[in-house]
Amino acid sequence: MLVVDIINKKRKGEVLSKEEIEYFINGFSNGEIQDYQASALLMAICINKMTIEETTNLTMAMAYSSKVLNFSGMFETPVIDKHSTGGVGDKVTLIVLPIVASLGVKSFKLSGKGLGATGGTIDKLCSIKGYNTNISINQAIKFLKKNGVCLISQTDDIAVSDKKLYALRDVTGTVESVHLIAASVMSKKIAAGAEKIVLEVTYGTGALIKSKEDAKVLAQMMVEIGKKVNIETVALITNMDEPLGENVGNSLEIMEVINFLNSKEEELNKSSINSLKKVVFEVASHMLKLSGLGENDQENEMKIMDAITSGKAYEKFIQMIKGQGGCIKEKQIEEFNKKIESPVLVKSAKYTKEILADAKGYINYVDASKIGEALITLGGGRKKKDDKIDYAVGFIFHKKMGDEVKKGESIVTIYFNDKNKIDECIKYILEAIKLDLKKIIAKKHIDDII
Ligand code: URA
Repeated sequence: MLVVDIINKKRKGEVLSKEEIEYFINGFSNGEIQDYQASALLMAICINKMTIEETTNLTMAMAYSSKVLNFSGMFETPVIDKHSTGGVGDKVTLIVLPIVASLGVKSFKLSGKGLGATGGTIDKLCSIKGYNTNISINQAIKFLKKNGVCLISQTDDIAVSDKKLYALRDVTGTVESVHLIAASVMSKKIAAGAEKIVLEVTYGTGALIKSKEDAKVLAQMMVEIGKKVNIETVALITNMDEPLGENVGNSLEIMEVINFLNSKEEELNKSSINSLKKVVFEVASHMLKLSGLGENDQENEMKIMDAITSGKAYEKFIQMIKGQGGCIKEKQIEEFNKKIESPVLVKSAKYTKEILADAKGYINYVDASKIGEALITLGGGRKKKDDKIDYAVGFIFHKKMGDEVKKGESIVTIYFNDKNKIDECIKYILEAIKLDLKKIIAKKHIDDII
C-alpha cells in the first residue's frame, strides 16, 4: 500500500477502506508517514468529507494506535466520560463532575489545555496552587476508585495519534472538519476507557463550530459512532454566542465553580447564571441516567439540587482538588456568611477596571469570541501552544444578554495585571457588547438532545 494512493483516492472523493485508514494512522503514529503527507490527506478529508463508516474506522484506528484503558468489571456502574467541544466561560465540567460523583457516578476524564479563544479545563485547574494534572494512569485509577472522579491532562501514551494529528490540523486549516472533530473526540474517549459518554456540542461565536446545523451534524455523527462501537452516547447541542455564566478567565472561573457549588436554591435561580445552571443540570441528569442511577428527569433535578445545597458536591470538589495535590485553606466567604475550605488560587490580579453603560437600554448582544480575544490580549489564553498563561486575569459580567442597564451602570469588571494591555482589551469588550432600546428574546441555551 502506498500513502500517495490513499491521498489520491480521497482527493478524488472516493471512500477509503478500513485497511487504508489503519495503514495511514499506524504509519503516521510511528513516523513512517510524513507530516506533509498527513496534511494533504487531512485537507482532502476536509474538502471531500467521509462516510460514517470511514469516520468510525478512523476513530477506532486512532483510539487503538496506542494504549487503551479498560475499566470493565471495576465498578458496579459504568465509567462515564463527559466532554465539551468548548466555549468561552465553559466551566460545566468542573461543576458537574463533583455533583455527579457525590451521587455515585464514576467519571474519568482526560482534558486538554485551551488554545485560542476557548479555554481549557486543565488551565482552569492549574490556577489552583499545587494541583497536579500530570499524574500517571495508575495513580489516576487509584483516585477514581477512592473519589469516584478523576480529571487529568492528556498523557503521552493514550490517544497519541490524535495529539499528533491535532497539532497538524491546528496549523493546516483543518481543525473545523466535523469528520475530523468527531474522530478526534471519540477516539480519545474510547482510548480513555469510556463505557458511556455525555457530549456537549457547542455552537456560536464562542465555540469552534459556528452554526447550529453543523453542531447537529457533528452531534449525530458522534452518537452514531458511539452506537457502532457499542458505547452509549448522548449529545446536547448548546449555544455559546455569549460567555457561559458570569466569570471568564482561569482563576475567576474556579471562583464561579466554588460559588455555584456553595449556592442556596434561590441563588441558583439568578438570571445571570440561568444558562450555566440549565446546562449543568441537564448534563448531570444524563450522567445519572447513563449510570442507571436516575431515570426520571424531575427526580434527578431534585437530587442534583440536593447535592449542591447539602454541600455534598462541594465536599467532593474539595476531595478531588486535595487528592491531586491542590492547596486548600479555610476561608471566610462573605457572600455565604460562613467559613469554608477553599482552594488557594495561584495569584490575584493587581488592577480592576469597570466598563460602564454609556446609555440606558438592554444588552442585546455579547460576542463571546471577542471576549475570548480580550482574554488572550490580557494573557489569560494562548496564541501559541507553549504560551504562558496569566491565570488571574479575566472578566466578571454583571449584566447578561437581555438584561436592562441604566446609564453609568457597570456591565463588566476587567481584572488585569499589565497596564499596557488594557486599552486593546477594552476595545475588544466595547466591540463585543451591544446595547439597544428594545429587549431581545433570549436564545435557547440547549437546542437539542440527541
Ligand atoms: N476537541 C477535540 O478534542 N478535538 C477536536 O478536533 C476539536 C475539539
